[in-house]
Amino acid sequence: MTAAQTRTADSNSAPAALIIVAAGSSTRMGGRIKKEYLPLNGGTVLSAAARIFFQTMHFTAAVIAVPAHGEQDARAALFADPDMATLIGTTQLLFVPGGATRQESVRHALEALYTAGVLPHSDSSLVLIHDGARPFVTSAIIKAAAAAAEAYGAAVPALQPVDTQKETDKNGIIIRHLQRKNLAAVQTPQAFRFYPLLDAHRKAAADGCDYTDDTEIWGKYAGSVKTVPGDSCNKKITYPGDLPQADKGASRMIRTGLGYDLHPLVEGRKLLLGGIQIPFDKGEDGHSDGDVLFHAITDALLGASGLGDIGSFFPPSDPTWKDADSAQLLRTVWEQITAAGWKLGNLDCVIALEQPKFLPYREQVRESIAKVLHADKSQIFVKAKTGEKLGVIGEGKAVEVWSVCLLEKQQA
Ligand code: MG
Repeated sequence: MTAAQTRTADSNSAPAALIIVAAGSSTRMGGRIKKEYLPLNGGTVLSAAARIFFQTMHFTAAVIAVPAHGEQDARAALFADPDMATLIGTTQLLFVPGGATRQESVRHALEALYTAGVLPHSDSSLVLIHDGARPFVTSAIIKAAAAAAEAYGAAVPALQPVDTQKETDKNGIIIRHLQRKNLAAVQTPQAFRFYPLLDAHRKAAADGCDYTDDTEIWGKYAGSVKTVPGDSCNKKITYPGDLPQADKGASRMIRTGLGYDLHPLVEGRKLLLGGIQIPFDKGEDGHSDGDVLFHAITDALLGASGLGDIGSFFPPSDPTWKDADSAQLLRTVWEQITAAGWKLGNLDCVIALEQPKFLPYREQVRESIAKVLHADKSQIFVKAKTGEKLGVIGEGKAVEVWSVCLLEKQQA
């Protein structure tokens, strides 16, 4: 099963499309390279921004608004993330040339969705509009914005400004002292019912006014906008200094996790370690396929992320998990952990096993684990120890595994 198939696609009931606006010229970045195309986390700012959407919700179509004649560069930036094709899956991907303003770029993207006919003519069809330069958006924000748009028609993530806000005149003189508690600094994704927004944008294009963003256009022609909690980590890359800072250790949260498991070794079962079947006359007994290594890894990763443990995700009392493929259980869990913004630093494991010898299978097992986690083999290590003929391990009655991992997450 692919990453795209295992993502939590049931998180949105309404048909939805995604628009990512990356049509600006990045003049504040010195104009040398578009900020959306700068490298980040093994991909680019644009691919990082897109990735989390595809991990969080199912989209019928995704439109990237790019500079005129800029499709090739945008495509390269998006697919710089090696997982992108899998993540996009069956979603229809479109690139449209933006306009002179953000408002115009969004309208072009909305019209492209309309022309493609990908969203049913229904009030439930949604569109999420996101800045290509906001790579640190979270699943929680995306889900909250989509759910609120479904309920209220339009939604935007917002934060109360930290600094006291003033209004000034053109000479820089303060003319109004604003109340911080009544103010909202809004972020993206902004989420809307698709057809009313398209209609509002068409009217806004005809009325000749300038609008600050899509919520203002909605507010004038369609109705009110619900705010949902934003996140200070969801910042927009604006100045060259934003990225190196975002990529520095100081802005990272780092967590370790520990996992342990033991299974009895019995005749008539397969010996599975990290998805690799090791030839032996005994194997792990257990409710699932018994892959003790995958179980310990799953618990280590869950522990580090704080999302739970293997027992709470897949209760042994639930017949669903009888003979379950432990690789699939780990994939399911890892989808949720990565959707929460975590990335793997490294994973190290110790297997306690009297027989057979593990060393000949080590590289195969490391590769198998790396594949499930979409990681590099260098991030995964596994070693084995015997029980020196002592205890349940030494007597060949059981196999035990300890696993530790390090997870990292971007922070504001
Ligand atoms: Mg187990």
